[in-house]
Amino acid sequence: LPAPRVVSPQVADIAALLPEPGPESDKYRRGVLAVAAGSDRYRGAAVLAVGGALRTGVGLLRYVGQQGVATEVVHHWPEAVVSVLDPTDPAGRLPQRVAAWVVGPGRGLHPTAAMELEAVLATDRPVLLDADAITLLAKRPELVSDRTAPTLLTPHAGELSRLLPDSTPAEVEEHRLDHVVRAAERYNCTVLLKGSTTLIAAPGLPVVVNPTGTPLLATAGTGDVLAGAAGALLSAGLSPPDAATCAAYLHGLAARLAHDGAPVSSSDLIGALPVAFAAILGSD
Ligand code: AMP
Ligand code: MG
Repeated sequence: LPAPRVVSPQVADIAALLPEPGPESDKYRRGVLAVAAGSDRYRGAAVLAVGGALRTGVGLLRYVGQQGVATEVVHHWPEAVVSVLDPTDPAGRLPQRVAAWVVGPGRGLHPTAAMELEAVLATDRPVLLDADAITLLAKRPELVSDRTAPTLLTPHAGELSRLLPDSTPAEVEEHRLDHVVRAAERYNCTVLLKGSTTLIAAPGLPVVVNPTGTPLLATAGTGDVLAGAAGALLSAGLSPPDAATCAAYLHGLAARLAHDGAPVSSSDLIGALPVAFAAILGSD
């Protein structure tokens, strides 16, 4: 097999892809994003994913979750519209008329989460799966490979190794390019592999290498921010490869710009997304 072609975006490519609201925009046309992240045990994952989405730009954010975490989300982000999950019927009251979904960060692996995942993947909307949703998907690959609507997976090496049954995290780390391409083919969707260099693969497309990554991102919660950011771009209508490429670029740049190279927390990273936007949009 020929080696996959590899490309790296320039800032002008990102500037051209980022959605900018115009006079015709309203909150619905701009994009309604539903986020099913976090749990009463992992409340921060929800707050961080929602923050990453809001600062990347959505028309309306709908958060779905348990009472305790939903309260926490509204406390941090009062603009989020929350629906409290019925734990006995997680698929029963999914918000309708959403443009895209983010599912998984901090959500847990219990049967309720699996039912919710199946219900979201049964919709005809673009879906981003991260973290626990990827672990659950590994047991039911057909839930994604049989979809006709677009799907974006955002695993780190450990999560990607679960998606490919005969691989270990160490093998993924050693042959990152091969493994991200194999996962995109097996699941017939876009896969963003996180880590020291972020790679984005989609069937039939060259692999994208993100040029803005920085080890400053190696801190808890940054992956949740990335999931929200990429979800926002899906809800705005970008294709999964474009949404993943732009989100990874913005995320790395925000980490670099947040404190001039000094350490960043995941909350700081959300706060620096506007600076990264300005740097990208001001570059052309
Ligand atoms: P997660 O694994 O979900 O916590 O996400 C971690 C985030 O930090 C992802 O965006 C990774 O790409 C990024 N990251 C982790 N380690 C490194 C590293 N050594 N260099 C650059 N980025 C990293
Ligand atoms: Mg993660």
